[in-house]
Amino acid sequence: MKSLNKIVERINGYGYDRFVVKGQEITPDGFTVIAGPCTIENRDDLEVIAKHLVTENISFIRGGAHKLRTSPNDFAGLGSTALDWLQEIGKKYNLVTVSEITDTEHLDEMIEKIDILLVGTRNMLNYPMLTKIGKTRKPVILKRGMSSTLEEWLLASEYILKEGNSKLIYCERGIRTFDSITRNTYDISAIPLLRSKVNFPVIGDPSHATGLRELIRPISIATASVGASGLLIEAHPTPETVLVDSRQTIDLQTLSTINEQSKAIIKLLN
Ligand code: PEP
Ligand code: MN
Repeated sequence: MKSLNKIVERINGYGYDRFVVKGQEITPDGFTVIAGPCTIENRDDLEVIAKHLVTENISFIRGGAHKLRTSPNDFAGLGSTALDWLQEIGKKYNLVTVSEITDTEHLDEMIEKIDILLVGTRNMLNYPMLTKIGKTRKPVILKRGMSSTLEEWLLASEYILKEGNSKLIYCERGIRTFDSITRNTYDISAIPLLRSKVNFPVIGDPSHATGLRELIRPISIATASVGASGLLIEAHPTPETVLVDSRQTIDLQTLSTINEQSKAIIKLLN
């Protein structure tokens, strides 16, 4: 705890750099829902999702263009084409766009096309990439490494902060444990713990944390209950048909329920 407090002191010294994009803000005390497909497969599905988000008053859309797949034989996203669709749909529906950066080669293109960068669990330890992102002023969501301690996660974030980029959001997405029924073990305690320590937004990703679509609603409600700053959720009109992370993808109706119930529980707790 002693060294944690030192790290926390430095992180709060940098301070969260609040930003407004497309009229929207992510704040530590607010509750931001970010939803969309794991991976963008076509423009039409993305548009159906965008329209649904608008009707639900959800202002942030996620979608993978460059995917890091465990097997090199699996579909790894449509790259630039998907980024173009996300950019276009984001403009058309005034949605803030979020997509994962997997290689610094894509940094310039992603800065141009996407509103918020996502650093996935596999790249939390990619310090050269974090340093490069730190040199930009692009908002970034930093996921926790799947085998990383809280201290390691905070130290990784410092690679970004140190370079002057404090538009930083933390995202807990589960860690590896001995169980294999859920995809990961959701470290829900990390959320109120970090929230009580650092004055930055901390969101939760129940999709990658659990890997099971029937758990996404209850775990989302739990995430809202412990004071998270928001949720990152994989949702699609026909979850069974998607090529990536189908088992953890929820349908749009469930997303609506989660959005309503998480906001209701926050209201109740406040
Ligand atoms: C993602 O959110 O698109 C993703 C790849 O998640 P993770 O890095 O947590 O596995
Ligand atoms: Mn996914």
